[in-house]
Amino acid sequence: MARLTIKGISKSFGATYAVRDVSLDVEDGELVCLLGPSGSGKSTLLRMIGGFERPTAGSILIDAKDVTSLPPEKRPTGMVFQSHALWTHMDVFNNIAFGLKLRRLPKAEIKERVEQALALVGLADYGRRITTQLSGGQQQRVALARSLVLEPKILLLDEPFASLDQHLRERLREEVRDIQQRLGITTLFVTHGQDEALALADRIVVLRDGYTEQIAPPDRIYREPETEFVAGFIGSMN
Ligand code: ADP
Ligand code: MG
Repeated sequence: MARLTIKGISKSFGATYAVRDVSLDVEDGELVCLLGPSGSGKSTLLRMIGGFERPTAGSILIDAKDVTSLPPEKRPTGMVFQSHALWTHMDVFNNIAFGLKLRRLPKAEIKERVEQALALVGLADYGRRITTQLSGGQQQRVALARSLVLEPKILLLDEPFASLDQHLRERLREEVRDIQQRLGITTLFVTHGQDEALALADRIVVLRDGYTEQIAPPDRIYREPETEFVAGFIGSMN
């Protein structure tokens, strides 16, 4: 059974169709990259899965349960945005603990889970740091820990490293892949970078003008003769 099932979802903003009739099954533990140029509907699709946008048509199922009309906090999803939006008036520990406190977990459990999450993202000793004193990469690691600490079934990452320099971006994507495999967590990763998708994904979904142009594993994304035009399209993206 698929962890995530997307059935014919569309989203229009007035006359603009951001996402058009997208269907997709994602298996438990799979890492799927949503790849496409700016404006192709990647963020809108991800935001619908996370509950931040309501589809104008179609449905979204997680573990066979229809979540289409549930708000983000009622879904077993965790989202990391391109700009991390950490709280600057709280230290790292409290940024990560915030969601657990809302759930009214016992203090000792909160402490243990936050410490585990910090260790997972390589920031074991950073709990008492002020978030504005961290580097861009460290801030995105905190954002990732803040999502993971809630133990989502599906992790949603929207160009999380787009604002970082290439070296750091490559390092962080390796870390994400490592964490994703260790936890076995089903992940959707939005990127406009072909290299990033090829390096990370079990499967790549190529979006264009809101449509799924192609869905294939990285080693098959160019080889299928009928999709050769995609190579040109991807090549023009960077
Ligand atoms: P991507 O993440 O691939 O760059 P988006 O999903 O952000 O693409 O946007 C897809 C299309 O939908 C674009 O044409 C964008 O301008 C439009 N769009 C996205 N969000 C909104 C919105 N809130 N209001 C109006 N148009 C939007
Ligand atoms: Mg986007």
